[in-house]
Amino acid sequence: MKMLLHFNPQIIKKPLIAEVVLETGVLVNINKATIDTAGGKLIINVPDKDAKKVIKSFKSRGVDVVTLEKPIIMIDEECVHCGACISVCPTNVFKYEADGSVSVDYKECIQCGACITACPHNALKLSE
Ligand code: SF4
Ligand code: SF4
Repeated sequence: MKMLLHFNPQIIKKPLIAEVVLETGVLVNINKATIDTAGGKLIINVPDKDAKKVIKSFKSRGVDVVTLEKPIIMIDEECVHCGACISVCPTNVFKYEADGSVSVDYKECIQCGACITACPHNALKLSE
């Protein structure tokens, strides 16, 4: 299961990933990490069966956890291939193909919602 972790600046210097791995015994796969003055943001992947204890362990350390179970959906009939989603997506889910159409790499989606706001044709939504 993919998860989005938010670390506030107060806890960013702590070895929290290592602590969670030691406490839970679950190997955490880090997909993406960004750090700035607002704190840290990590996308991690753990086996579904271990998700609950990993979430509990991170939350007990003050980490905000959002599970990423619901991928984005593109409604093909509504897409006009304008490319607005390409420019806002932080994980490069969208790209132009040689024929000018916009394609989607669903597994990279972190469900930030930026493309939903940017799309002028309501062609994107989160699945329920
Ligand atoms: S922003 Fe919307 S209409 Fe434009 S390419 Fe992306 S999904 Fe299609
Ligand atoms: S929700 Fe965010 S990560 Fe997912 S496709 Fe849209 S912009 Fe990209």
